[in-house]
Amino acid sequence: MQLKHGEKTDKEDDSPVTVADYGAQALVAWSLRRAFPGQPLSLVAEEDAVDLREPSGAAMLDRITSLVNEALAIEHPQVARLSSAEVADLVDVGCSEGGGVGRHWVLDPIDGTRGFVGQRQYAVCLGLLQDGQVALGVLGCPNLPQYAITDADCDEGQAARSFSEESVGTIFAASKGQGAYAGPVFGGMPTQRIHCNDSLPPSQVRYMESFEKRHSNHGLALQIGAEIGVELPSLKLDSQAKYGALSRGDASIFMRFPDAAYREKIWDHCAGVAIIEEAGAVITDALGNPLDFSQGRFFPYLNGGIVAATPSMHRAIMAAIRKIRELEPKEE
Ligand code: AMP
Ligand code: MG
Repeated sequence: MQLKHGEKTDKEDDSPVTVADYGAQALVAWSLRRAFPGQPLSLVAEEDAVDLREPSGAAMLDRITSLVNEALAIEHPQVARLSSAEVADLVDVGCSEGGGVGRHWVLDPIDGTRGFVGQRQYAVCLGLLQDGQVALGVLGCPNLPQYAITDADCDEGQAARSFSEESVGTIFAASKGQGAYAGPVFGGMPTQRIHCNDSLPPSQVRYMESFEKRHSNHGLALQIGAEIGVELPSLKLDSQAKYGALSRGDASIFMRFPDAAYREKIWDHCAGVAIIEEAGAVITDALGNPLDFSQGRFFPYLNGGIVAATPSMHRAIMAAIRKIRELEPKEE
């Protein structure tokens, strides 16, 4: 999708949001309502309709409403058109606080919005928490090739150039105890069983990190990689597409070290964690503690970041982080 004027704006925290973020959130909320009629629905999702309900947001809400109706007309031609008020209400279905009891759907309607705008990687990410534990996840990655990614696929615009090829666009899905699967993004439920690849020596291992330097400390990841014997440069990818890539063995490690003040949100990880765990990978915070999805929309303190990797690489990285931290000068 090529964005036109008025289809992208900036949120209070300076991060971009587009008609596609809002539209995807409304469509997923609509679909969940339809799939579970009459049941209470808890959806923890990134966007809300506060700005869209302001007079300054009216034009954008109209555009989102048209796009949502266009999408519904293709999949469900018999369904009545939604009004803009109904679309705003659907976006706001995602305002649940989540928590450790019961079922909570967790959605990032467009993860990696900067990647989406820059025609790189992005992902539509839907997970499910059952009593605070990740129970299932689906990742739609429209710009991710169905074959293993390379540096060339990470360049600006490259993904979009190859988008018309039949081999681009991957969906991943997993539910607890049932394995992880991948397939073409428009191919229905994916059927190819996938596993992470834990058989490579460190010298042949690839690690992944955010494309955006402001999202993760690339210097620290390089230092840790060197400590465990990694020789190849990192793959820099936006979004939870990294979790999909780890799950099918394109790379063996994903390191994420944001600024100390940054608070990680559960929708940036829930779906991806469901998939990597079923593919045999391990994910913890930077000191080896499990991620706790039971505390609401944000994670509690994460000790410096998140590491997801094959089991042997994860052990090696934890040892490397401990060593690097012991060598750091202590504050008096
Ligand atoms: P990635 O593409 O892996 O860097 O992750 C994208 C996600 O990073 C977005 O969905 C944001 O929620 C999140 N994000 C936004 N700002 C920051 C920041 N300053 N540091 C770390 N992550 C951020
Ligand atoms: Mg996100």
